[in-house]
Amino acid sequence: MTECLFCKIIGGEVPSMTIYSDDDVVAIEDINPQAPTHVLVLPRKHIPTTLDIGDDDLELMGRCLAASNHIAREKGIDGSGFRIVLNSGADAGQSVHHIHFHLIGGRPMMWPPG
Ligand code: 5GP
Ligand code: ZN
Repeated sequence: MTECLFCKIIGGEVPSMTIYSDDDVVAIEDINPQAPTHVLVLPRKHIPTTLDIGDDDLELMGRCLAASNHIAREKGIDGSGFRIVLNSGADAGQSVHHIHFHLIGGRPMMWPPG
């Protein structure tokens, strides 16, 4: 049995607010939103960090970005803009070791990030 939180969410073992799902990708509302829109776009495949992305995963990563765009349009933040963040490793603050794209929008954001 997997110990990965996001694998459990994808498998339905842990509840979440799922807003998008297809054969490769699942998107959920972040439990601790940092903006009016804060969605986590997850590949169904367990890939711990960006460093573990293999050549076989490149299309899957594109599908995650395409799903993010789809959700951004659905949420109505395509016009105002949004940020897609993929934290990798300790200094970036990655806390769940299953790749996830944060789709954040609905308010102006600062740069550089903190
Ligand atoms: P990271 O820090 O790894 O880039 O992002 C992990 C994200 O997962 C955080 O934004 C956090 O709020 C979110 N998160 C942690 N546990 C849960 C959970 O059980 N359900 C949902 N929907 N989001 C979670
Ligand atoms: Zn996982």
